[in-house]
Amino acid sequence: MSAPLLEIDRLAVSFRAERGRVHVVDRVQLALAAGETLALVGESGCGKSITALAIMRLVPRPGLIEAESRICFAGRDLLSLPVAEMRNVRGGKIGMIFQEPMTSLNPVTRVGAQVEEAIRLHAKVPAGEARRRTVELFQTVGIPDSGIRVDAYPHQLSGGLKQRVMIAMAMAMQPRLLICDEPTTALDATIRAQILELIRNMATTTGAAVLLITHDFGVVNAVADRVAVMYAGQIVEEGAREELLSRPRHPYTQGLLRSIPRPEARGNRLEEIKGVVPRPGQWPQACRFHPRCPHAFDRCRSETPARTVVSPTQAAWCHLVDEEARA
Ligand code: SF4
Repeated sequence: MSAPLLEIDRLAVSFRAERGRVHVVDRVQLALAAGETLALVGESGCGKSITALAIMRLVPRPGLIEAESRICFAGRDLLSLPVAEMRNVRGGKIGMIFQEPMTSLNPVTRVGAQVEEAIRLHAKVPAGEARRRTVELFQTVGIPDSGIRVDAYPHQLSGGLKQRVMIAMAMAMQPRLLICDEPTTALDATIRAQILELIRNMATTTGAAVLLITHDFGVVNAVADRVAVMYAGQIVEEGAREELLSRPRHPYTQGLLRSIPRPEARGNRLEEIKGVVPRPGQWPQACRFHPRCPHAFDRCRSETPARTVVSPTQAAWCHLVDEEARA
């Protein structure tokens, strides 16, 4: 088997607080193959966006990626790359699409010019050719009146169109890894489906791997090959999409899935996960989910769960799963 394109091991990110450092991401381990789409799922505050920023080495200060962390991309240790080389990786081999496109778009530069710049950064083509390719890319991502829209400023476009510009930009850069952080959260259902389709098509045509950060299982179902579920800064379950969605093993994943409205369950009451998400720095001992878990037993309060492999494509960090596997 070929080596994964992205391999994350023992990733830990902490922030300075009054009473010492507070970990927001704790010993995260993930792998992503070329051409694969991995969804990183969890409630807000679980550490998934910080994980994405850590890959890009963009964790905001006073955040710190701890020394034991390893992030290996295409055989290179990203955390030890010189700043200039890391900037090249960010601008080329790894692209990022955020929930709010204005995080990445320059508000005072026409959108077409921004995409042209991305094209010319990677291909030594004359300005006229870059413009022609930009119009073509705008057509590909479904921006109507592309020849006119290239001259618009970001504030003149709707949220959906701005997100399409971001995808056109990503296509221009042809990244090997595309990180999408809640790319469709601010969009209505129809536009959301179109944007997800575009991201999937882009990954298929360019062979890019996609790391999709989301709290929405509808999005997971639409595009993911594999899923990793995160809770309180740690991965608690991972697996192939179909297996994990049809047979979740971790009580947290089960709770998340029970709380999703499903058309076939109309009339049935949704079950919420009881209790509240703990804040970083106030994470419970041992299994961090134990105060909310309906199956918690003594071991859960005293021992941190290790990874239990439940099938060739699924694993969970849970004592109950572990004891069932041993029985
Ligand atoms: Fe629940 Fe225990 Fe599993 Fe944690 S380890 S999820 S408390 S059963």
